[in-house]
Amino acid sequence: IRSGGGPGPWAGTACVVTGASRGFGRSLARLLAPQLGPGSVLLLLARSEDALGELASELRSGCVPADLGSEEGMRRASAALRELLQDSSFGRLLLINNAGSLGDISKSFQDLSDLQEINTYFSFNISSALCLTSTALRAFGARPGCSRTVVNISSLCAREPFPSWALYCAAKAARDMMFRVLAVEEPGLRVLSYAPGPLDTDMQLLARTRTGDLGMRQKFQRMQEQGQLINSSVSAQKLLQLLQEDSFPSGAHVDFYDI
Ligand code: NAP
Repeated sequence: IRSGGGPGPWAGTACVVTGASRGFGRSLARLLAPQLGPGSVLLLLARSEDALGELASELRSGCVPADLGSEEGMRRASAALRELLQDSSFGRLLLINNAGSLGDISKSFQDLSDLQEINTYFSFNISSALCLTSTALRAFGARPGCSRTVVNISSLCAREPFPSWALYCAAKAARDMMFRVLAVEEPGLRVLSYAPGPLDTDMQLLARTRTGDLGMRQKFQRMQEQGQLINSSVSAQKLLQLLQEDSFPSGAHVDFYDI
C-alpha cells in the first residue's frame, strides 16, 4: 500500500477514498493526490479492479478491490485499513466515505417488500460506512498532535423526500445522523457530511432513465438537457476547499450550493 506520498502540503497523511473507480470518488482522488506530502499514503477502494488499478498507478497510490456490500469484501477492506493505519508515523487521517448506490429506483415504496433486497441495500449504503469508519478510528486512535477527519458523502436526499427513492433517501438521512452522533461523541474529530450537488456521473444516468416516478424522471432529464449537472471535479474542488479551510462545525451537513 505504501506510496511514499508526493510533494504536496499534507505530510504524513493516511487518506482513504471509497468508491474511487469512477464518478465523484475518482475526481476527488485525483485532486487529493497532489495535496499529499512526504510520508503520506492514498488508498482507493471500489469493486472494479481494472479501473481502480489504472487510477492507482496514475496517482501512485494503493488500491484494494472490494465489494463493500459483501461480508468478504468488508473483511478485505477492513483488514487493509487496519494494516495501513497501524503505522504510528501518520499524523493525519482523512477518510472519505463516498461509495454509494441508488438501489432499485424503478420501485415505489409499496413495491419494496423483499427483506433481503432492502437489507442488502442498507448493508452497503449505511452499515459499510459505519463499519469502515469505526475500524479506521480504532486503528488510528486519538494521539497528541494528530488530526482525524471523516467525510460522509451525503445528498439533498438526506433532507428531502424524492418519490421512488425511499431506500436512497433513508440511507442518506441515516448516514447524516450517524455521523452527527460521531461528531458529538468525539469532539476531537472533524466530521463533515458533504452533499455534492447533481453530478454528471453514472448515478445521474440511472436517475434520469430508471426512476419509476415519471415527474422525477423528467426532472432529471431536464436537468441534463439544460446543462444543470455539475462536473464531478468542480464539486470535488469545493470539498477540497472545505477540508483545506477546516472551519466547518464538526457534524455539519454542507451542500455544494451553500458555498
Ligand atoms: P457512481 O458514478 O455510481 O460511482 C459510485 C462509486 O461507488 C463507484 O466508484 C463504484 O465503484 C462504487 N461502488 C458502488 N457499489 C459498490 C460496492 N458494492 N462496493 C464498493 N464500491 C462500490 O456515483 P457518483 O455519482 O460518483 O456518487 C458518489 C457519491 O455521491 C455517492 O455516495 C452518491 O450517493 C453521492 N451523490 C451523488 C449525486 C449525483 O448526482 N451523482 C448527488 C448527490 C450525492 P465500483 O462499481 O467499481 O464498485
